[in-house]
Amino acid sequence: MPILVMKFGGTSVATLDRIRRVAKRVGVEVAKGYDVIVIVSAMSGETNKLVGYVEETSPLFDAREYDAVVSSGENVTAGLMALTLQEMDVPARSWQGWQVPLKTTSAHSAARITEIPTDNITQKFAEGMRVAVVAGFQGISPEGRITTLGRGGSDTTAVAFAAAFEAERCDIYTDVDGVYTTDPRICEKARKLDRIAFEEMLELASLGAKVLQTRSVELAMRYKVRLRVLSSFEEQSDEAGTLVCDEEEIMELNVVSGVAHSRDEAKMTLISVADRPGIAAAIFSPLSEAGIHVDMIVQNISEDGRTDMTFSCPVNQVARAEQALEKAKESGSINFHDLVADTGVAKVSVVGIGMRSHTGVAATMFQVLAKEGINIKVITTSEIKISVLIDRKYMELAVQALHDAFELEKAA
Ligand code: ADP
Ligand code: ASP
Ligand code: MG
Repeated sequence: MPILVMKFGGTSVATLDRIRRVAKRVGVEVAKGYDVIVIVSAMSGETNKLVGYVEETSPLFDAREYDAVVSSGENVTAGLMALTLQEMDVPARSWQGWQVPLKTTSAHSAARITEIPTDNITQKFAEGMRVAVVAGFQGISPEGRITTLGRGGSDTTAVAFAAAFEAERCDIYTDVDGVYTTDPRICEKARKLDRIAFEEMLELASLGAKVLQTRSVELAMRYKVRLRVLSSFEEQSDEAGTLVCDEEEIMELNVVSGVAHSRDEAKMTLISVADRPGIAAAIFSPLSEAGIHVDMIVQNISEDGRTDMTFSCPVNQVARAEQALEKAKESGSINFHDLVADTGVAKVSVVGIGMRSHTGVAATMFQVLAKEGINIKVITTSEIKISVLIDRKYMELAVQALHDAFELEKAA
């Protein structure tokens, strides 16, 4: 029988009522003749609560225990979903990551999937089971410890299963009815896209559009998974939502297709470091060893052989980054006068494949921000995106102004 992967995010399984509602959606696909692999997230708010418990208990926590705690939310929903389906006479059972086993690297809290053996679940389908409910977000390391795939990781579990089982499609059910030109929660003019190219979705996701986890888009692109984002709250046709697909499947390419934002950023500046060969390596190696996700980097012009080095990282990694840098200073590998953390910044980015062949996007972006009186703290660019770091209090204003300026409410 053909296989379908259906993933339900936190808001879609937030209550027993909602679990019943989405279970009915699963039942419809089973009735059509599909064997279904359902991937579930934790009930909405649950993972945040668990992360809060960990951080309160141990600010610089052991990531192995973090994973043991925060993976547990998905176990609850997987069991409840299987029970709900059984109540509807749909043969179903649940799997936790380790039972599949979904094998990952040992990079706790940000593990990567290495293998998904299919025999176990395939055997159950052959015996008449129709729905395999799998707890998203979690796996097992080579050392036999529970791992998690990073926030939003259930999307990646879903795409990885779709690839491993050669599913006909991977449907990501969420609380919005598709991928929009920007987050519809902060810009009411945001427009739903019928299709978006993998590369653009990859940029949007990595720049903060949390509708899909970045790694899930990477996997879908690599394994040619038909990936669709749609609402779990509306009746759905086969054409609903947004299809994430190859560039060739899209008729009109915009210069700018979307605006992304990321609220949880911090800017850290090392004041007065020696400007000598090897200084960047001496600063960023300990940060990398401490698992800090460094994003933007700027080095000032040096004066008298000394310079300032600025970088951005997730705001919840500031304490860890400070610890790593102070340790490096103590060991003598780097020397700086001061370390200043600005935890009130946000990143706003414009993304579009058309930027490859059009100039002027950066100039327009900077003019728009200037007109709104928004100061740009750091800038980075790539072939198809421009990102700026600004004060967090201007983030929504910046997104709306850029959405207007690039006329994203209008279809191409
Ligand atoms: P789930 O719990 O279903 O995984 P998430 O909260 O992770 O859902 O992702 C869905 C949210 O992503 C939406 O509620 C929306 O606020 C946000 N979002 C950000 N950018 C976009 C975008 N460009 N298009 C759609 N949603 C977006
Ligand atoms: N529950 C996890 C999180 O909130 C994984 C997910 O929902 O995708 O990050
Ligand atoms: Mg999500």
